[in-house]
Amino acid sequence: MTDRIRQFLRRNREDGPRLVVDTDVVRSNYNAFAKALPDTRVFYAVKANPAPEILKLLNEMGSCFDTASMGEIDLVMAAGGTPDRISFGNTIKKEKDIAAAYQLGVRLFAVDCEAEVEKIARVAPGSKVFCRILCDGSGAEWPLSRKFGCAPEMAPQVLEHAHKLGLVAHGISFHVGSQQNNVKAWDRALKTSAAIFREMAERGINLSMVNLGGGFPAQYLRDIPKVEKYGQAIFTALRKHFGNRIPETIIEPGRGMVGGAGMIEAEVVLISKKSASDNQRWVYLDIGKFGGLAETMEEAIRYPIRTEKDGDVMAPCVIAGPTCDSADVLYEKTPYLLPVSLEIGDKVLIEACGAYTTTYSSVAFNGFAPLKSYVI
Ligand SMILES: *Cc1c(COP(=O)(O)O)cnc(C)c1O
Repeated sequence: MTDRIRQFLRRNREDGPRLVVDTDVVRSNYNAFAKALPDTRVFYAVKANPAPEILKLLNEMGSCFDTASMGEIDLVMAAGGTPDRISFGNTIKKEKDIAAAYQLGVRLFAVDCEAEVEKIARVAPGSKVFCRILCDGSGAEWPLSRKFGCAPEMAPQVLEHAHKLGLVAHGISFHVGSQQNNVKAWDRALKTSAAIFREMAERGINLSMVNLGGGFPAQYLRDIPKVEKYGQAIFTALRKHFGNRIPETIIEPGRGMVGGAGMIEAEVVLISKKSASDNQRWVYLDIGKFGGLAETMEEAIRYPIRTEKDGDVMAPCVIAGPTCDSADVLYEKTPYLLPVSLEIGDKVLIEACGAYTTTYSSVAFNGFAPLKSYVI
C-alpha cells in the first residue's frame, strides 16, 4: 500500500467496499514500460480501468489507447485522447460501431477473419488493419486463448483480402495471455509473426507492425519478473526472428499498468462455521465476485488480503462474497490463511486491485451498488 492510499483511507472513512487508485503508481508504471521498451508505442488497454483520471493522466504522458467499443472510444476522447492514438482492437465489432469510430477519425482496426475485413472495407475505407493470431496462453494465470485470433496459417489470406479491398494490411497482433509470468512467452508468437511477414512479402505486401498485446503482470501473492526483463526478452526475440529489419511494435498493457496501483478496502460481514465439528471458518466479506472480484473465477487470480491482525496465529478459511448466489465464493479449493482473531466488522485490504475490478462489478445484483472508486 502506498502512503497516499494509507492517508486517504485514514482521512476518508466510509462504509462499503471501495477501490482507491494512486495515480503516482500509474505514472511510474507508464515510465517503466516506456523505458523497458523504448522503441515501442504504448496503447493502454482501457478495459483494465477506464477511470477518467487515469485516461487523462496517460493521455498527457503520451500514451495511445486500445479500445473495444464505442463506449471506450468516447471515454478516451472525453479525456482528451485523439483518434490518431486510438486502436479499435476488438476483433468482434458491429459494422455501425466501425462506421461511428471511422467518423470520429479512428483508422486502426483489429481483425481475425475475412467477414470482419469486409465490414471495415465497407464503412472505414483505407483504414489500417492488423490480423490477430491465436496464441496458446500457456504460462498465463488468466489465459485468453481460443476466442480471439485466427490460426497463423490463415492470417496471410485475411490480410491479403484486406489489401485487395483497399485497406492497408498493417500487421499482426497476438496476446500471450494475461498475468503472463514467463518473460519468454513472446518468443514463439514472434517467430510465427516473422513467418507471416515473409509470406506476405512473397505476395507483394509489406507488413509493418507487430502488436505485442498485453500480458504484463501485476504483483499479487507470487513474485513476478520486473518489466525490464520483459523488455529484454521481447527485444531478444525480435532480433532473433526479424534480424535487422525489426518492425514497428506496440504493446497494450492493462493489468501491468494499473493492477498494482489500487487496493480495495472491504469489511468482514460474517464469520461462521457450517457445523459444530467444522474446523474451517467461512469468512464473508462485503465484496465478492459480483462486486468487482470476478477474476477470482476458478480461483485464477489470488489477491493479497491484509488485515490489522496479520501478526496473530493464522488459520485457513473459505472466503466468500455477500450476495445470494452460491457462485459468489472467492477462495475455497485452496483455502486462504486469515488470522484466527479476525472479527465481524474488521476491515480487510485487498491489494493489487487497480485492474479489472470496477469494470467487472455488477450494476445492482441483490441491490448491492457497483464498486466505488477513488482515483487520487
Ligand atoms: C485485455 C486486453 C489487453 C490487456 O491485457 P493485460 O493482460 O491486462 O495487459 C491487451 N490487448 C487486448 C486486445 C486485450 O483484449
